[in-house]
Amino acid sequence: MQLSESPVQAICVDGRSLWVKRDDLLHPDFSGNKARKLYYLLHQDLSHVERFISYGSVQSNALYSLSVLAKLRGKAMDYYVTRIPAWLRQSPLGNYQGALDNGARFIEVGDRLQSSGQNLEQYVSESIVPQQGAALFVPEGGRFEQAREGVYRLADEIIQWQRLHAAGALIVMLPSGTGTTALFLNQRFKMLGVDIRVLTCACVGDADYLRGQFAQLGSSPAYYPEIISTGKKFHFGKLYPECYALWRQLRAQTDIEFDLLYDPQGWLALLTYLKLDCPDCQVMYLHQGGLLGNATMLPRYRRKYG
Ligand SMILES: *Cc1c(COP(=O)(O)O)cnc(C)c1O
Repeated sequence: MQLSESPVQAICVDGRSLWVKRDDLLHPDFSGNKARKLYYLLHQDLSHVERFISYGSVQSNALYSLSVLAKLRGKAMDYYVTRIPAWLRQSPLGNYQGALDNGARFIEVGDRLQSSGQNLEQYVSESIVPQQGAALFVPEGGRFEQAREGVYRLADEIIQWQRLHAAGALIVMLPSGTGTTALFLNQRFKMLGVDIRVLTCACVGDADYLRGQFAQLGSSPAYYPEIISTGKKFHFGKLYPECYALWRQLRAQTDIEFDLLYDPQGWLALLTYLKLDCPDCQVMYLHQGGLLGNATMLPRYRRKYG
């Protein structure tokens, strides 16, 4: 299974040369940044573990990657969600379908949350996990300390690549959800003293929310990546015509399919930043996978904007 050493490709966007690190090509079942964040689970001694427990969105990329891993390691997987929409239950697709196929068990707890007054995270971590001795708990989106191992490997691949192919300073751009990938990448670069800056943007919540996530991972502010933005507020999972237009433009200009949930915002922020602040910088965009999620996002976009 090819789970590291993804290729780097030169592309041209609006006449500007950039590189893309194709983590989306790592492996069809286990790709993108969830593969990096869950990497340590591939090698970890799991003899004491019976099941994986996680929670979050019913269409999350982390859900699918974790289900692949559970299957691979011969473990059961319980995934807690608030609710499963009736239409999706009737005709599963995307990450939900993939996880079902891998044997993940979905547990709907919307009603229990209402009566207990807890949110999903509290409910699972406080009421479920402590009662399950032989369970391995993975927080939503793979936001945990153990993600460090795989993300450091990714950082080392980028450092190696820079030595061979880039003359001098490099910017690495990646859009953030939990911010785990961007934070650990930047930490590695800073600690090793290499000339690589990490830029990111907040796709879930705003910059303050993202800095809160960095803090929750126990990081000192000295290691926080730089957060850039277009100034416009986007709501996670909502549809925006400029995002769809840019996604299509990227596909036409580069022949690469990006993800529709994070990448359009990442590219919008990056292109704005480069125009204003850094017209001559050498830039690598990190393609973090997530293409299975396009199976639900793309039909939504097509219905709305054609
Ligand atoms: C999960 C995911 C992200 C966000 O990663 P974080 O480490 O949570 O910031 C970005 N892009 C894609 C495609 C993802 O699947």
